[in-house]
Amino acid sequence: MIYLNGEWMPIEQARIPVLDRGFIFGDGVYEVIPSYSGYPFRLREHLARLQSSLDAVRIVNPYSLERWDELVREVVAGNPWEDQYVYLQVTRGVAPRDHAFPKGAKPTVFMMANPLATPPRSQLEQGVAAVTVADNRWLRCDIKSTSLLANCLLRQAAMDAGAVESVLLRDGMLTEGSASNIFVVRNGVIITPPKTNFILPGITYDVVIELARANRLPLEIRQVSEAEVRDADELWLTSSTKEVLPISTLDGKPVGAGKPGPLAARMNQLYQDYKRTVMRAPAHARA
Ligand code: PMP
Repeated sequence: MIYLNGEWMPIEQARIPVLDRGFIFGDGVYEVIPSYSGYPFRLREHLARLQSSLDAVRIVNPYSLERWDELVREVVAGNPWEDQYVYLQVTRGVAPRDHAFPKGAKPTVFMMANPLATPPRSQLEQGVAAVTVADNRWLRCDIKSTSLLANCLLRQAAMDAGAVESVLLRDGMLTEGSASNIFVVRNGVIITPPKTNFILPGITYDVVIELARANRLPLEIRQVSEAEVRDADELWLTSSTKEVLPISTLDGKPVGAGKPGPLAARMNQLYQDYKRTVMRAPAHARA
């Protein structure tokens, strides 16, 4: 069952008017929230990021935090999968086509869930291929906008090269992946770029940083140069659906030893343990 503007229905019955600004302009924002054994992961943080995205594009949040919380849990409860991810999107609504904001349009709210397939063991053990691509997106990559044409092109560039993700470089510096954040390991230190307008503030990025700190793993949050990316000992991509996934080749060349390194394995274990802890926590303590 999906949710559309206050109603629940099978996805086949869901319709939106062609003049929805989400369709015409990509004028909307979204979230992807993983849910494990019925528990939405870091829901509060996802809803806070949704609020930031809405504020950045000046769409008034149509629901309270409590209402969103309830709706996400209802979507999860209404679907059969043990692990799933909730996709939600809010657009500026339906109005005659004009770039300027319409007066009085009501935001469109759409939510659905899909089964969550985290990376298979083989990918975790062998790592995945990635390619570097010039980051040619706009300068507000911190907004989780549904205008994803640039990200689609960047991901397709990876696919065309037989890789699974593109590692984006802007002015000689690492930004992120087409749909992930990127971590570099050099000489035993985990390094990742800071949260700026050039990257999406990933929820998984935050979890990885928290876990590194809690376990006293050497960590630096700073700009990473292209040269540092190219001779890294390890590269990881992180996202809600890929979790912590090691990259074993970059532009066809081995990363480090050409197989996932020890810190990737360690962080993966920490991440899996953390997920389980959250699922066991009492409901009031779950975020
Ligand atoms: N950057 C981009 C461009 C993304 O699309 C995503 C995934 N939506 C991420 C980073 C990772 O964010 P999260 O950990 O919240 O999934």
